[in-house]
Amino acid sequence: MTLHAQTIQEKGLAVINQSTAESYIHFLAHDLLEGREAGTRGGALAREYIITCLRNLGIQPFNDSYIQPFEAYARERQTRGRFQVDIDSISIYKKIVHRKLSLSNILGKIEGKRAGEYVIVGAHYDHLGIDPTLENDQIYNGADDNASGVSAVLQLAKAFLATGQQPERTVIFAFWDGEEKGLLGSKYFVQSFSQINQVKAYLNFDMIGRNNKEEVPEQVVYFYTESHPVFGEWLKNDIVRYQLNLKPDYRPWDRPVGGSDNASFALLDIPVIWYHTDGHPDYHMPTDHIEQLNWNKLINITKASFLNLWNLANEKEF
Ligand SMILES: [Zn+2]
Repeated sequence: MTLHAQTIQEKGLAVINQSTAESYIHFLAHDLLEGREAGTRGGALAREYIITCLRNLGIQPFNDSYIQPFEAYARERQTRGRFQVDIDSISIYKKIVHRKLSLSNILGKIEGKRAGEYVIVGAHYDHLGIDPTLENDQIYNGADDNASGVSAVLQLAKAFLATGQQPERTVIFAFWDGEEKGLLGSKYFVQSFSQINQVKAYLNFDMIGRNNKEEVPEQVVYFYTESHPVFGEWLKNDIVRYQLNLKPDYRPWDRPVGGSDNASFALLDIPVIWYHTDGHPDYHMPTDHIEQLNWNKLINITKASFLNLWNLANEKEF
């Protein structure tokens, strides 16, 4: 038997596994977290858990703290206006009867060799909370939406450290708050980060654990910025090279501004990649439970995206 030397990427891939994903998602989607609604106790518990995971892995906070606090404002609720984080809306709402939410993103990093170049990988950690007027199950557990995505960002952080190699660019590991209330966390981040022009790319996860078509359980929608066809080539090549069990639906997109936190970055013309396993009957329902997840696919997507992020962080040009 001949053993080939493990490549750097293989060292990272080797630590991505189902039991780790299960432990993250089991906690985040537990009934005790009450559906992780932004601005609630359940959301705060999720936040403390994710921070504990980052500390435990040895990921540094992006700023002085892992927490990036921010406030969102809306009109009085009869108007059904959405929460906003931009300065103009806030200054208007503050003058009238208004609502206010105190929210927090979580940001960790691995410092790169080159100063002032960033890539960001992110997933929202909030979900829809509880509805006490629902008969029977009242908790929106959000196992797929988006505990699945959070598990991927945490495993990518672990995998990057496991390579033992410092990336060229600084990698920011982001967990967004308030996505379900209007992409609030990612909107706040892009408007407040002074070096946003030095962000080379953004990789997003939102719902990566379910089957849209039961007859094609390996299906995943792979959205990416059309002007960067190399993002498609990377995945095609990596699926062959690393024998990943995925059937991507390649969706190059000229302006990928819909759907999830990728929109906040795409609006600034930052190239994005977004993994998403598409709609299912439990989407935004209290039945989005851990038992329904396709673990094999979730792990294969996590591995494929690790290879994407490796390229984003280290390739000279793309
Ligand atoms: Zn979501």
